[in-house]
Amino acid sequence: MIVCKFGGTSVQNKDAIERVIGIIKSRLKERPVVVVSAFSKVTRQLCELADEAEAKHESNVGTLIGQIRERHNTVASELLSDNKDLLNHTLNRVGEICDELEAFVKGICQIGELSPRSNARIISTGELLSSTIISAAMNSRGVKSRWVDARKMIITNDDYLSARPDMEATQSNVLRIIGEEAKGVDIVLTQGFIASSASGATTVLGFEGSDYSAAIIAMSLNASKVEIWTDVDGIRTADPRVVHKTSRIDRISYEEAAEMAYLGARVLHPLTIEPARKKNIPIRVLNSGNTECEGSSVVRDDSIPDGPKSIAFRDDIYYMELSSRKLAGETSMLSGIFGILKSHKIEAFLVSTKESKVSITVEAGHPELEEAMEELSELMEMTVYRDKAQISIVGKNVLRRDKLIEDMASVTGKIYMVSIGAGLMNISFVIDRDRLAESVDGLHKKLF
Ligand code: ADP
Ligand code: ASP
Ligand code: MG
Repeated sequence: MIVCKFGGTSVQNKDAIERVIGIIKSRLKERPVVVVSAFSKVTRQLCELADEAEAKHESNVGTLIGQIRERHNTVASELLSDNKDLLNHTLNRVGEICDELEAFVKGICQIGELSPRSNARIISTGELLSSTIISAAMNSRGVKSRWVDARKMIITNDDYLSARPDMEATQSNVLRIIGEEAKGVDIVLTQGFIASSASGATTVLGFEGSDYSAAIIAMSLNASKVEIWTDVDGIRTADPRVVHKTSRIDRISYEEAAEMAYLGARVLHPLTIEPARKKNIPIRVLNSGNTECEGSSVVRDDSIPDGPKSIAFRDDIYYMELSSRKLAGETSMLSGIFGILKSHKIEAFLVSTKESKVSITVEAGHPELEEAMEELSELMEMTVYRDKAQISIVGKNVLRRDKLIEDMASVTGKIYMVSIGAGLMNISFVIDRDRLAESVDGLHKKLF
Protein backbone atom coordinates (compact mmCIF):
# COMPACT_ATOMS: atom_id res chain seq x y z
CA MET A 1 0.00 0.00 0.00
CA ILE A 2 1.02 3.62 -0.44
CA VAL A 3 -0.35 6.79 1.15
CA CYS A 4 -0.99 9.82 -1.09
CA LYS A 5 -1.68 13.15 0.63
CA PHE A 6 -3.04 16.14 -1.28
CA GLY A 7 -2.70 19.61 0.24
CA GLY A 8 -5.13 22.53 0.00
CA THR A 9 -3.96 23.95 -3.32
CA SER A 10 -3.95 20.47 -4.87
CA VAL A 11 -7.71 20.21 -4.23
CA GLN A 12 -8.68 23.87 -4.48
CA ASN A 13 -11.18 23.59 -7.37
CA LYS A 14 -12.65 21.31 -10.05
CA ASP A 15 -9.54 21.28 -12.27
CA ALA A 16 -7.21 20.56 -9.37
CA ILE A 17 -9.43 17.70 -8.15
CA GLU A 18 -9.53 16.25 -11.66
CA ARG A 19 -5.74 16.24 -11.69
CA VAL A 20 -5.79 14.43 -8.34
CA ILE A 21 -8.11 11.78 -9.77
CA GLY A 22 -5.71 11.32 -12.71
CA ILE A 23 -2.80 10.88 -10.31
CA ILE A 24 -4.69 8.29 -8.26
CA LYS A 25 -5.74 6.40 -11.40
CA SER A 26 -2.07 6.04 -12.31
CA ARG A 27 -1.36 4.46 -8.91
CA LEU A 28 -4.20 2.01 -8.41
CA LYS A 29 -1.86 -0.99 -8.56
CA GLU A 30 -0.09 0.33 -5.47
CA ARG A 31 -3.39 0.39 -3.54
CA PRO A 32 -3.37 4.01 -2.44
CA VAL A 33 -4.88 5.33 0.76
CA VAL A 34 -5.75 8.94 -0.08
CA VAL A 35 -5.51 11.69 2.55
CA VAL A 36 -6.93 15.10 1.70
CA SER A 37 -6.72 18.59 3.21
CA ALA A 38 -9.47 21.17 3.17
CA PHE A 39 -9.78 23.21 -0.04
CA SER A 40 -7.18 25.99 0.06
CA LYS A 41 -7.95 28.83 2.48
CA VAL A 42 -10.99 27.08 3.98
CA THR A 43 -9.29 26.30 7.29
CA ARG A 44 -8.32 29.95 7.55
CA GLN A 45 -11.93 30.97 6.88
CA LEU A 46 -13.12 28.56 9.56
CA CYS A 47 -10.69 30.08 12.07
CA GLU A 48 -12.10 33.48 11.23
CA LEU A 49 -15.60 32.06 11.63
CA ALA A 50 -14.74 30.78 15.10
CA ASP A 51 -13.29 34.18 16.10
CA GLU A 52 -16.27 36.08 14.72
CA ALA A 53 -18.64 33.80 16.62
CA GLU A 54 -16.73 34.34 19.85
CA ALA A 55 -16.96 38.10 19.21
CA LYS A 56 -20.75 37.70 18.67
CA HIS A 57 -20.54 39.23 15.19
CA GLU A 58 -23.64 37.46 13.95
CA SER A 59 -23.79 38.99 10.51
CA ASN A 60 -20.13 38.18 9.71
CA VAL A 61 -20.77 34.64 10.90
CA GLY A 62 -23.69 34.36 8.49
CA THR A 63 -21.62 35.73 5.60
CA LEU A 64 -18.73 33.35 6.22
CA ILE A 65 -20.95 30.28 6.48
CA GLY A 66 -22.69 31.36 3.28
CA GLN A 67 -19.34 31.63 1.47
CA ILE A 68 -18.17 28.24 2.69
CA ARG A 69 -21.46 26.59 1.71
CA GLU A 70 -21.47 28.17 -1.72
CA ARG A 71 -17.88 27.29 -2.57
CA HIS A 72 -18.40 23.61 -1.74
CA ASN A 73 -21.76 23.43 -3.50
CA THR A 74 -20.21 24.98 -6.60
CA VAL A 75 -17.23 22.62 -6.73
CA ALA A 76 -19.50 19.59 -6.13
CA SER A 77 -21.91 20.71 -8.86
CA GLU A 78 -19.09 21.28 -11.36
CA LEU A 79 -17.55 17.89 -10.67
CA LEU A 80 -20.74 15.84 -10.61
CA SER A 81 -22.88 17.58 -13.24
CA ASP A 82 -23.36 14.41 -15.28
CA ASN A 83 -24.40 12.18 -12.39
CA LYS A 84 -27.54 13.68 -10.90
CA ASP A 85 -28.05 11.03 -8.18
CA LEU A 86 -24.52 11.27 -6.90
CA LEU A 87 -24.68 15.07 -7.10
CA ASN A 88 -27.89 15.19 -5.05
CA HIS A 89 -26.51 12.81 -2.50
CA THR A 90 -23.29 14.84 -2.21
CA LEU A 91 -25.10 18.18 -2.00
CA ASN A 92 -27.28 16.76 0.76
CA ARG A 93 -24.24 15.63 2.71
CA VAL A 94 -22.49 19.00 2.18
CA GLY A 95 -25.70 20.68 3.32
CA GLU A 96 -25.86 18.54 6.48
CA ILE A 97 -22.24 19.30 7.39
CA CYS A 98 -22.79 23.04 6.83
CA ASP A 99 -26.08 22.98 8.78
CA GLU A 100 -24.38 21.29 11.73
CA LEU A 101 -21.57 23.85 11.57
CA GLU A 102 -24.04 26.70 11.41
CA ALA A 103 -26.06 25.47 14.40
CA PHE A 104 -22.90 24.93 16.42
CA VAL A 105 -21.41 28.32 15.57
CA LYS A 106 -24.67 30.11 16.33
CA GLY A 107 -24.52 28.55 19.79
CA ILE A 108 -21.02 29.99 20.26
CA CYS A 109 -22.31 33.33 19.02
CA GLN A 110 -25.01 33.31 21.70
CA ILE A 111 -22.64 32.75 24.60
CA GLY A 112 -19.60 34.54 23.16
CA GLU A 113 -17.23 31.90 24.44
CA LEU A 114 -14.96 29.67 22.41
CA SER A 115 -13.14 26.78 24.06
CA PRO A 116 -10.26 25.00 22.30
CA ARG A 117 -12.57 22.00 22.06
CA SER A 118 -15.26 23.98 20.23
CA ASN A 119 -12.64 25.64 18.07
CA ALA A 120 -11.25 22.26 16.97
CA ARG A 121 -14.71 21.10 16.07
CA ILE A 122 -15.28 24.17 13.90
CA ILE A 123 -11.95 24.09 12.05
CA SER A 124 -12.20 20.35 11.36
CA THR A 125 -15.14 20.99 9.02
CA GLY A 126 -12.99 21.87 5.99
CA GLU A 127 -11.60 18.36 5.68
CA LEU A 128 -15.03 16.75 6.18
CA LEU A 129 -16.38 18.82 3.29
CA SER A 130 -13.46 18.38 0.90
CA SER A 131 -13.19 14.62 1.47
CA THR A 132 -16.94 14.13 0.90
CA ILE A 133 -16.78 15.88 -2.46
CA ILE A 134 -13.50 14.32 -3.63
CA SER A 135 -14.66 10.81 -2.73
CA ALA A 136 -17.86 11.31 -4.76
CA ALA A 137 -15.84 12.71 -7.69
CA MET A 138 -13.56 9.64 -7.59
CA ASN A 139 -16.62 7.35 -7.72
CA SER A 140 -18.14 9.32 -10.58
CA ARG A 141 -14.96 8.78 -12.61
CA GLY A 142 -14.70 5.06 -12.10
CA VAL A 143 -12.38 5.01 -9.09
CA LYS A 144 -14.35 3.07 -6.52
CA SER A 145 -13.73 5.00 -3.33
CA ARG A 146 -14.72 4.49 0.29
CA TRP A 147 -14.92 7.53 2.56
CA VAL A 148 -13.50 6.82 6.00
CA ASP A 149 -13.71 9.14 9.01
CA ALA A 150 -10.14 9.83 10.22
CA ARG A 151 -11.56 10.61 13.67
CA LYS A 152 -12.35 6.93 14.11
CA MET A 153 -8.72 6.02 13.39
CA ILE A 154 -6.44 8.68 14.84
CA ILE A 155 -6.88 8.89 18.61
CA THR A 156 -5.16 11.73 20.43
CA ASN A 157 -4.79 13.43 23.79
CA ASP A 158 -7.05 16.32 24.84
CA ASP A 159 -4.82 19.07 23.53
CA TYR A 160 -7.59 19.90 21.08
CA LEU A 161 -5.78 22.28 18.73
CA SER A 162 -2.37 20.58 18.55
CA ALA A 163 -3.36 17.12 19.58
CA ARG A 164 -0.76 14.36 19.85
CA PRO A 165 -1.67 10.82 18.85
CA ASP A 166 -1.74 7.75 21.01
CA MET A 167 0.29 5.76 18.50
CA GLU A 168 -0.63 2.34 19.81
CA ALA A 169 -4.39 2.87 19.71
CA THR A 170 -4.10 4.69 16.39
CA GLN A 171 -2.02 2.03 14.73
CA SER A 172 -4.41 -0.74 15.67
CA ASN A 173 -7.44 1.33 14.53
CA VAL A 174 -5.84 2.20 11.19
CA LEU A 175 -4.93 -1.42 10.50
CA ARG A 176 -8.37 -2.70 11.43
CA ILE A 177 -10.48 0.02 9.80
CA ILE A 178 -8.52 0.38 6.57
CA GLY A 179 -8.17 -3.41 6.36
CA GLU A 180 -11.98 -3.70 6.49
CA GLU A 181 -12.90 -0.70 4.39
CA ALA A 182 -10.43 -1.37 1.57
CA LYS A 183 -12.27 -4.58 0.67
CA GLY A 184 -14.08 -4.35 -2.64
CA VAL A 185 -12.99 -0.79 -3.49
CA ASP A 186 -10.08 0.79 -5.39
CA ILE A 187 -9.17 3.34 -2.73
CA VAL A 188 -9.88 4.35 0.82
CA LEU A 189 -10.14 8.14 1.14
CA THR A 190 -9.83 9.97 4.43
CA GLN A 191 -9.09 13.39 5.94
CA GLY A 192 -5.81 14.87 7.04
CA PHE A 193 -5.53 17.13 10.09
CA ILE A 194 -8.53 15.82 12.04
CA ALA A 195 -8.65 13.22 14.78
CA SER A 196 -10.50 12.56 18.01
CA SER A 197 -9.75 12.28 21.70
CA ALA A 198 -10.25 9.01 23.58
CA SER A 199 -13.64 10.31 24.72
CA GLY A 200 -14.69 10.97 21.12
CA ALA A 201 -14.36 14.78 20.89
CA THR A 202 -12.94 16.13 17.64
CA THR A 203 -9.31 17.27 17.82
CA VAL A 204 -6.86 18.61 15.20
CA LEU A 205 -3.15 17.96 14.79
CA GLY A 206 -2.11 21.62 14.40
CA PHE A 207 -2.01 23.76 11.28
CA GLU A 208 -0.56 22.04 8.22
CA GLY A 209 -1.13 18.79 10.10
CA SER A 210 -2.38 16.75 7.13
CA ASP A 211 1.19 15.77 6.26
CA TYR A 212 1.47 14.33 9.75
CA SER A 213 -1.81 12.40 9.35
CA ALA A 214 -0.45 10.84 6.16
CA ALA A 215 2.77 9.77 7.87
CA ILE A 216 0.89 8.31 10.85
CA ILE A 217 -1.34 6.28 8.54
CA ALA A 218 1.65 5.14 6.46
CA MET A 219 3.51 4.03 9.57
CA SER A 220 0.47 2.16 10.87
CA LEU A 221 0.00 0.32 7.58
CA ASN A 222 3.70 -0.26 7.01
CA ALA A 223 3.16 1.43 3.64
CA SER A 224 5.88 1.24 1.01
CA LYS A 225 5.85 5.01 0.40
CA VAL A 226 4.19 8.31 1.38
CA GLU A 227 3.55 10.79 -1.39
CA ILE A 228 3.02 14.41 -0.32
CA TRP A 229 1.43 16.17 -3.29
CA THR A 230 1.71 19.95 -3.10
CA ASP A 231 2.17 23.05 -5.28
CA VAL A 232 5.97 23.11 -5.78
CA ASP A 233 8.43 20.95 -7.71
CA GLY A 234 9.68 19.08 -4.66
CA ILE A 235 11.77 20.29 -1.75
CA ARG A 236 13.87 23.23 -2.93
CA THR A 237 17.09 24.92 -1.90
CA ALA A 238 14.92 27.73 -0.42
CA ASP A 239 11.27 28.77 -0.35
CA PRO A 240 10.47 29.59 -4.00
CA ARG A 241 8.07 32.29 -2.81
CA VAL A 242 11.07 34.23 -1.53
CA VAL A 243 13.94 33.17 -3.80
CA HIS A 244 13.33 33.06 -7.55
CA LYS A 245 15.97 30.68 -8.81
CA THR A 246 15.83 27.75 -6.43
CA SER A 247 16.89 24.20 -7.34
CA ARG A 248 15.12 20.94 -6.64
CA ILE A 249 16.73 18.73 -4.02
CA ASP A 250 16.70 15.22 -5.44
CA ARG A 251 17.33 13.34 -2.19
CA ILE A 252 17.49 14.54 1.37
CA SER A 253 17.75 12.64 4.65
CA TYR A 254 14.94 12.32 7.18
CA GLU A 255 17.05 14.28 9.66
CA GLU A 256 17.72 17.13 7.23
CA ALA A 257 14.06 17.38 6.21
CA ALA A 258 12.98 17.40 9.87
CA GLU A 259 15.52 20.11 10.64
CA MET A 260 14.31 22.24 7.72
CA ALA A 261 10.71 21.90 8.83
CA TYR A 262 11.56 22.66 12.43
CA LEU A 263 13.49 25.76 11.38
CA GLY A 264 10.55 27.13 9.43
CA ALA A 265 10.48 25.63 5.91
CA ARG A 266 6.80 25.14 5.40
CA VAL A 267 6.92 22.38 2.79
CA LEU A 268 6.46 19.56 5.34
CA HIS A 269 4.88 19.66 8.78
CA PRO A 270 7.74 19.13 11.29
CA LEU A 271 6.23 16.01 12.88
CA THR A 272 5.76 14.24 9.54
CA ILE A 273 9.24 12.79 9.40
CA GLU A 274 9.36 10.71 12.57
CA PRO A 275 6.65 8.13 11.81
CA ALA A 276 8.12 7.57 8.35
CA ARG A 277 11.67 7.36 9.62
CA LYS A 278 10.68 4.81 12.24
CA LYS A 279 9.61 2.33 9.57
CA ASN A 280 12.09 3.56 6.95
CA ILE A 281 9.25 4.58 4.62
CA PRO A 282 10.43 6.95 1.88
CA ILE A 283 8.56 10.28 1.63
CA ARG A 284 8.19 11.70 -1.87
CA VAL A 285 7.34 15.39 -2.25
CA LEU A 286 5.61 15.96 -5.60
CA ASN A 287 3.81 18.69 -7.54
CA SER A 288 0.19 17.91 -8.40
CA GLY A 289 0.29 20.73 -10.97
CA ASN A 290 3.37 19.28 -12.70
CA THR A 291 3.37 15.49 -12.54
CA GLU A 292 6.32 15.31 -14.95
CA CYS A 293 8.64 16.63 -12.25
CA GLU A 294 10.38 13.90 -10.28
CA GLY A 295 10.06 15.78 -6.99
CA SER A 296 12.20 15.00 -3.96
CA SER A 297 12.77 11.88 -1.89
CA VAL A 298 13.24 11.95 1.86
CA VAL A 299 15.19 8.82 2.75
CA ARG A 300 17.69 7.32 5.16
CA ASP A 301 20.88 9.23 5.70
CA ASP A 302 23.34 6.58 4.33
CA SER A 303 23.68 7.83 0.77
CA ILE A 304 23.27 11.57 1.43
CA PRO A 305 26.36 13.75 0.99
CA ASP A 306 27.51 16.30 3.60
CA GLY A 307 27.01 20.04 3.27
CA PRO A 308 24.27 22.68 2.95
CA LYS A 309 21.06 21.52 1.30
CA SER A 310 18.63 24.34 1.88
CA ILE A 311 17.95 27.68 3.57
CA ALA A 312 15.06 27.89 6.02
CA PHE A 313 13.83 30.95 7.91
CA ARG A 314 11.32 32.29 10.39
CA ASP A 315 10.25 35.80 9.73
CA ASP A 316 8.69 36.93 12.96
CA ILE A 317 10.61 36.12 16.06
CA TYR A 318 11.73 37.85 19.22
CA TYR A 319 15.36 37.54 20.11
CA MET A 320 15.90 37.59 23.89
CA GLU A 321 19.02 37.91 25.98
CA LEU A 322 18.66 36.72 29.55
CA SER A 323 21.13 36.94 32.38
CA SER A 324 20.93 36.38 36.09
CA ARG A 325 22.96 36.99 39.18
CA LYS A 326 20.39 35.09 41.28
CA LEU A 327 20.51 31.87 39.29
CA ALA A 328 24.15 30.88 39.37
CA GLY A 329 25.46 28.73 36.57
CA GLU A 330 24.11 27.60 33.24
CA THR A 331 22.03 24.70 34.52
CA SER A 332 19.84 26.71 36.88
CA MET A 333 19.51 29.49 34.30
CA LEU A 334 18.38 27.04 31.66
CA SER A 335 15.99 25.19 33.92
CA GLY A 336 14.50 28.52 35.09
CA ILE A 337 13.96 29.70 31.51
CA PHE A 338 12.69 26.42 30.09
CA GLY A 339 10.38 25.84 33.06
CA ILE A 340 8.63 29.11 32.31
CA LEU A 341 8.55 28.56 28.53
CA LYS A 342 7.20 25.05 29.00
CA SER A 343 4.40 26.19 31.28
CA HIS A 344 3.25 28.50 28.46
CA LYS A 345 3.85 25.94 25.69
CA ILE A 346 6.41 28.22 24.07
CA GLU A 347 9.21 26.69 22.07
CA ALA A 348 12.68 28.21 21.95
CA PHE A 349 13.75 27.82 18.32
CA LEU A 350 17.41 28.72 18.83
CA VAL A 351 19.41 28.68 22.05
CA SER A 352 22.94 29.75 22.82
CA THR A 353 24.52 29.93 26.24
CA LYS A 354 27.50 31.14 28.14
CA GLU A 355 28.02 31.07 31.88
CA SER A 356 25.26 33.26 33.24
CA LYS A 357 23.80 34.46 29.97
CA VAL A 358 21.36 32.71 27.64
CA SER A 359 20.12 33.90 24.25
CA ILE A 360 16.98 32.46 22.69
CA THR A 361 14.54 33.07 19.87
CA VAL A 362 10.78 32.54 20.23
CA GLU A 363 7.70 33.00 18.07
CA ALA A 364 6.69 36.68 18.27
CA GLY A 365 2.96 36.03 17.87
CA HIS A 366 2.64 33.34 20.54
CA PRO A 367 -0.52 34.11 22.55
CA GLU A 368 1.16 33.58 25.94
CA LEU A 369 4.46 35.28 25.15
CA GLU A 370 3.76 38.51 27.06
CA GLU A 371 2.86 36.57 30.19
CA ALA A 372 5.96 34.38 29.90
CA MET A 373 8.16 37.46 29.43
CA GLU A 374 6.75 38.98 32.57
CA GLU A 375 7.61 35.86 34.56
CA LEU A 376 11.08 35.70 33.04
CA SER A 377 11.74 39.33 33.88
CA GLU A 378 10.88 38.67 37.54
CA LEU A 379 13.57 36.03 37.68
CA MET A 380 16.33 37.56 35.56
CA GLU A 381 17.48 40.51 33.54
CA MET A 382 15.97 40.39 30.12
CA THR A 383 16.52 42.35 26.92
CA VAL A 384 14.01 41.72 24.16
CA TYR A 385 14.76 42.56 20.53
CA ARG A 386 11.60 42.73 18.44
CA ASP A 387 11.18 42.61 14.65
CA LYS A 388 13.88 40.03 14.20
CA ALA A 389 14.13 37.08 11.81
CA GLN A 390 16.22 33.94 11.83
CA ILE A 391 17.91 32.31 8.85
CA SER A 392 19.21 28.76 8.97
CA ILE A 393 21.49 26.91 6.59
CA VAL A 394 20.49 23.27 6.87
CA GLY A 395 22.42 20.16 5.87
CA LYS A 396 24.27 17.19 7.27
CA ASN A 397 27.65 18.30 8.65
CA VAL A 398 26.82 21.74 7.38
CA LEU A 399 30.14 23.21 8.51
CA ARG A 400 31.98 21.18 5.88
CA ARG A 401 31.29 24.19 3.67
CA ASP A 402 33.92 26.87 4.36
CA LYS A 403 33.23 30.50 5.21
CA LEU A 404 29.54 30.19 6.10
CA ILE A 405 29.69 32.98 8.67
CA GLU A 406 31.63 35.29 6.34
CA ASP A 407 29.14 34.69 3.53
CA MET A 408 26.25 35.31 5.86
CA ALA A 409 27.76 38.51 7.25
CA SER A 410 28.37 39.85 3.76
CA VAL A 411 24.64 39.76 2.91
CA THR A 412 22.77 40.48 6.14
CA GLY A 413 24.00 43.54 7.94
CA LYS A 414 23.98 43.21 11.72
CA ILE A 415 23.98 39.66 13.12
CA TYR A 416 22.57 39.40 16.67
CA MET A 417 23.19 35.74 17.31
CA VAL A 418 24.83 32.73 15.70
CA SER A 419 23.85 29.25 16.75
CA ILE A 420 25.16 25.92 15.58
CA GLY A 421 22.60 23.14 15.96
CA ALA A 422 23.36 19.95 17.87
CA GLY A 423 24.50 17.28 15.43
CA LEU A 424 25.93 20.05 13.21
CA MET A 425 22.77 19.91 11.11
CA ASN A 426 22.26 23.68 10.94
CA ILE A 427 23.93 27.02 11.45
CA SER A 428 21.48 29.80 12.20
CA PHE A 429 21.65 33.58 12.41
CA VAL A 430 19.38 36.21 13.92
CA ILE A 431 19.07 39.38 11.85
CA ASP A 432 16.77 42.37 11.42
CA ARG A 433 13.45 41.38 9.96
CA ASP A 434 13.44 44.03 7.27
CA ARG A 435 16.65 42.53 5.84
CA LEU A 436 15.24 39.01 5.57
CA ALA A 437 14.15 38.64 1.93
CA GLU A 438 17.31 40.30 0.61
CA SER A 439 19.50 38.23 2.92
CA VAL A 440 17.93 34.89 2.02
CA ASP A 441 18.27 35.72 -1.66
CA GLY A 442 21.89 36.90 -1.30
CA LEU A 443 22.88 33.89 0.77
CA HIS A 444 21.20 31.54 -1.69
CA LYS A 445 23.29 33.01 -4.52
CA LYS A 446 26.44 32.39 -2.53
CA LEU A 447 25.59 28.85 -1.47
CA PHE A 448 23.85 27.22 -4.42
P1 ADP B 1 0.06 22.19 1.02
O1 ADP B 1 -1.14 23.03 1.02
O2 ADP B 1 0.18 21.30 -0.17
O3 ADP B 1 0.29 21.47 2.31
P2 ADP B 1 2.02 24.16 1.81
O4 ADP B 1 1.68 25.54 1.41
O5 ADP B 1 1.81 23.73 3.21
O6 ADP B 1 1.29 23.19 0.80
O7 ADP B 1 3.55 23.84 1.46
C1 ADP B 1 4.05 24.14 0.19
C2 ADP B 1 4.76 25.48 0.23
O8 ADP B 1 5.93 25.35 1.04
C3 ADP B 1 5.29 25.95 -1.09
O9 ADP B 1 4.34 26.63 -1.85
C4 ADP B 1 6.48 26.83 -0.70
O10 ADP B 1 6.17 28.20 -0.75
C5 ADP B 1 6.75 26.47 0.77
N1 ADP B 1 8.16 26.15 1.01
C6 ADP B 1 8.90 26.68 2.02
N2 ADP B 1 10.17 26.24 1.97
C7 ADP B 1 10.24 25.39 0.92
C8 ADP B 1 11.29 24.61 0.37
N3 ADP B 1 12.52 24.61 0.87
N4 ADP B 1 11.01 23.86 -0.72
C9 ADP B 1 9.76 23.84 -1.25
N5 ADP B 1 8.73 24.58 -0.77
C10 ADP B 1 8.95 25.34 0.30
N1 ASP C 1 -6.33 22.24 6.48
C1 ASP C 1 -5.34 22.30 7.52
C2 ASP C 1 -4.59 23.63 7.47
O1 ASP C 1 -4.86 24.42 6.60
C3 ASP C 1 -4.38 21.15 7.52
C4 ASP C 1 -3.49 21.03 6.30
O2 ASP C 1 -3.82 21.59 5.25
O3 ASP C 1 -2.45 20.36 6.40
O4 ASP C 1 -3.74 23.86 8.29
MG1 MG D 1 1.05 21.95 4.14
